[in-house]
Amino acid sequence: MRAIISNNFLFLGSKTIPMTFKYFKGPIDEMSGLLIEHSVCSICGKTAYCFELDYTITDVFSDDDKDGKFGCYACLKEGKFEFWHDTEFGMVDENGLSKVYKHNMENPPSIENERLIELRRTPQIITWQQELWLTHCNDFMTYKGTWAPKDFYLNSNDGDGKALFMSMTDKELNHLWDDSLPDNETILTE
Ligand SMILES: [Zn+2]
Repeated sequence: MRAIISNNFLFLGSKTIPMTFKYFKGPIDEMSGLLIEHSVCSICGKTAYCFELDYTITDVFSDDDKDGKFGCYACLKEGKFEFWHDTEFGMVDENGLSKVYKHNMENPPSIENERLIELRRTPQIITWQQELWLTHCNDFMTYKGTWAPKDFYLNSNDGDGKALFMSMTDKELNHLWDDSLPDNETILTE
């Protein structure tokens, strides 16, 4: 299984917020639109960790009305608002899965509807480029965050972080490891 890796080894610290997502297991500060303080959910009225609704899919508010409104984790899990995602299979939104860009895979396989729903109820990832959710085996991959070199060492069975990086990245990105070496260093450590 591949991880989604940014091309600059940015690693952001993590706070603990009680949320569980099948497809998002990265640091919460890589979730797009998450408010860092408790807020009042504009949908259910409870005080909880909330997401901005501005760019979400929701029937609760009209497009003009949702700006500046918030939705909590519980309401997200119930589908009262959802997120669209650009994926390797195509665009996942309220209409299901549709192929819209040339970079999408040919003939997207049919993905079980429950997986589309699960992904729509998953926050978007903060990225430098536009998010493109990676896929494997007719399913979406789990985002585990951006790994720094030390994370490759930690997750390697034999301690060879560089080898793990090479095995997890596409060939054309293999050079990033050596590109990230500080001047006068031969081994990446941090
Ligand atoms: Zn709510």
